[in-house]
Amino acid sequence: MNNPYAWLEKSLATIHRADWYRSVQTICGRPGATVMLAGQEVINFASNDYLGLAGDERLIAAATAAIHEFGTGSTGSRLLSGHRKLHRELEEAIASTKQTADAVVFSSGYLANLGAITALVGKRDLILSDQYNHSSLKNGAILSGAVAIEYPHCDLTALRNLLSQQRQNYRRCLILTDSVFSMDGDLCPLPALLDLADEFSCMLLVDEAHATGVLGKTGAGCVEHFACTGRQLIQIGTLSKALGSLGGYVAGSNALIDFLRNRAPSWIYTTALSPADTAAALAAINIVQQEPQRRAQLWRNVDYLKKLIQQQLPSLKLLPSESPILCFELASAADALKVGKQLKSAGIFAPAIRPPTVPTSRIRISVMATHELRHIQKLVVALNRNS
Ligand SMILES: *Cc1c(COP(=O)(O)O)cnc(C)c1O
Repeated sequence: MNNPYAWLEKSLATIHRADWYRSVQTICGRPGATVMLAGQEVINFASNDYLGLAGDERLIAAATAAIHEFGTGSTGSRLLSGHRKLHRELEEAIASTKQTADAVVFSSGYLANLGAITALVGKRDLILSDQYNHSSLKNGAILSGAVAIEYPHCDLTALRNLLSQQRQNYRRCLILTDSVFSMDGDLCPLPALLDLADEFSCMLLVDEAHATGVLGKTGAGCVEHFACTGRQLIQIGTLSKALGSLGGYVAGSNALIDFLRNRAPSWIYTTALSPADTAAALAAINIVQQEPQRRAQLWRNVDYLKKLIQQQLPSLKLLPSESPILCFELASAADALKVGKQLKSAGIFAPAIRPPTVPTSRIRISVMATHELRHIQKLVVALNRNS
């Protein structure tokens, strides 16, 4: 008899051969603009902690106080024994930031997308999804059982054609898009997507994971950046990026949120967000609202890096970006790995992102508000030498 598990080693060998193999790297101490990576201090261009809040004393104090008051675990799902006043306070703070009627928090952004998509559409429905959407949107679409079609990245003409051909064959239609594309750094054409959704009577779900706390005058995200606040749509996001904690959310109308509390399986059948994560996220939202200078510093850093690259590295193939995520493409996964390694030995932590996460291999740089000018200068010097 064949060993039914033998294929695992073969598959791993294939992954190795393609230079697609991945493994974890250990970071010691608190997250920040610099971190200790395998005993070496490196400048951190690899984190989603855009505002530097994940190591902030105030979030740590809020999380610690919540643990002392409520314990470590929430002990059950929200509808059974897991709900605390803290959850409601966080949801109200999110709704207030997003200027929506209500919001609901999930245990992660991934679960928020799975839960919302599977609750909103099913077998008789259509999903149209940007080809570069995050894995959680793609898997949510598959799990929902709806017919899911990907449209070419940000291609409004292709999307319109699909809607003209397909929309009338289905009961409901849900358009899915990242707002900031996580592995590219560009933005979705939100106002035009909203218009198309209106024209063809579709729901629009926009994933603000990399935009919340980062884009918009008050940090409310892409919806605010494009002056679309108040328009009907489904806003998803995470508490784990600029907000420095863990968890996800959906924000929208009262009916939407009430429906999700009754129908989203990844909210109903999982343990409520822990008191510590909830309190840390709530503290982060208050900081995002009260300290717009953090966001302003983030954008000054982004502009400074873009300016240095333009001046000193004109041949670098930067992908179009309107966010703190800057990527440059390399010919192969092996090249990307090599450049990533060289950067690391120069004291720069900027990861190689390879297929299947992205279609083409690249180095991904994410800028933080807490980077100092010398950190950014050192990055450009290292890029000059190694790319
Ligand atoms: C990170 C990310 C998620 C997942 O959020 P988690 O809270 O980390 O699970 C979802 N969507 C997008 C676009 C993301 O970048």
